[in-house]
Amino acid sequence: MSSSIIRQQFPLLQQMMGSYPLCYLDNAATSQKPERVIQAMDDYYRRNNANVHRGSYQLSAAATSAFEAVRLKVQQFIHAPQPQEVIFTHGTTEALNLLAYGLGKQLQPGDRILVDSTAHHANLVPWQQLAQRCGAEIIAIPLTHELRLDHQALKVLLQQPTKLVALSHVSNVLGSVNDIPTLAQEIRAAGAICVVDGAQAIGHLPVDVQLLGCDFYAFSGHKMYGPTGVGVLWGRQSRLETLEPMLTGGEMIKSVSFAHTEFGELPFRLEAGTPPIAEVIGLGAAIDFLNSLERDQVQQQEQQLLLQLQQQLAALPGITLYGAHADNSGALAFNLAGEHHQDVGILLDQQGVAIRCGHHCAMPLMQLLGLKGCCRASLGVYNNADDIERFIKAMRTTITMLTGE
Ligand code: PMP
Repeated sequence: MSSSIIRQQFPLLQQMMGSYPLCYLDNAATSQKPERVIQAMDDYYRRNNANVHRGSYQLSAAATSAFEAVRLKVQQFIHAPQPQEVIFTHGTTEALNLLAYGLGKQLQPGDRILVDSTAHHANLVPWQQLAQRCGAEIIAIPLTHELRLDHQALKVLLQQPTKLVALSHVSNVLGSVNDIPTLAQEIRAAGAICVVDGAQAIGHLPVDVQLLGCDFYAFSGHKMYGPTGVGVLWGRQSRLETLEPMLTGGEMIKSVSFAHTEFGELPFRLEAGTPPIAEVIGLGAAIDFLNSLERDQVQQQEQQLLLQLQQQLAALPGITLYGAHADNSGALAFNLAGEHHQDVGILLDQQGVAIRCGHHCAMPLMQLLGLKGCCRASLGVYNNADDIERFIKAMRTTITMLTGE
């Protein structure tokens, strides 16, 4: 399926930014939504809206079945062994917080938590908070000179008892991909829990949690053409069962008296309160959208575009790319020598090109790179060669305006 047929399904991409057609290259921040996702959520509110799991009437039963059908869809999409291993959250951030809180009582003072140096703050700050509560220690896994996770260094770190290792599947800044199957196998063999932040992988790579072999995998709907406000924590059932619920209240109980509460079964014991129902329905439509694509072919097209982007940008004067490799996925980080990243972003915006500039919620990585921030262009399934051409042309103009070159 060509990117132009895919593109037609995204109403927002049809609009102009001033006198320029929109060139959207900020997919790592959030992806645009296809018509079928917008329609599914609209339909839900117009025809099916009722609370789930509790009504004694047809409308509530219909909303419950539509909601639970998405749990099965997610289970299939990520090849989870059991539907009750799919926990709906409001996003990756909540999924990782729920996990860090839930594991709290399992950590002792002195326990070691290893964290990927490319980690988004969502996969670092919750572990820091947990470490502070339990007296555990956070250790950064170093990067190689090529800005890949230092596999040898991780092996050495794993020779000492380690409680948990938190990895990015794909870095939201560099686009670098960690070899999760190999790493997870080694981490688990060392007796540690392997947590993977899949926020940047889920919209780009096939995700099969059984092949990945990790213990937990977190992602957000809005990075995979679905709505904001919904995400997933997948975990091995035996692990999820040991988590202390972060949120307590309705939906998650078996019985309550003034003296005592007995928590319910998975997945509900980790999903207190009314869930984001319309957003879950929208996530289901996003999975249908992704399943409607020839994903291998689309992934190859995206990979080709990323290569073109890396090569053409590297050839421009004054440009430094960070950790750009042919096997990266989705994103490309760069700076223009002597210029502030925000200035580059503003001038690109004036030419209809949307990228992200800043620290990308990865301040420790910026510190390792010796940067305050950088620019990042990131791709989605609807981007095409025309977008790359537009971006490179706009970059040439930007460079001339800022440096006179
Ligand atoms: N992890 C990574 C790698 C991300 O890119 C993001 C979003 N930028 C998050 C976590 C947080 O996701 P959310 O804001 O949807 O909770």
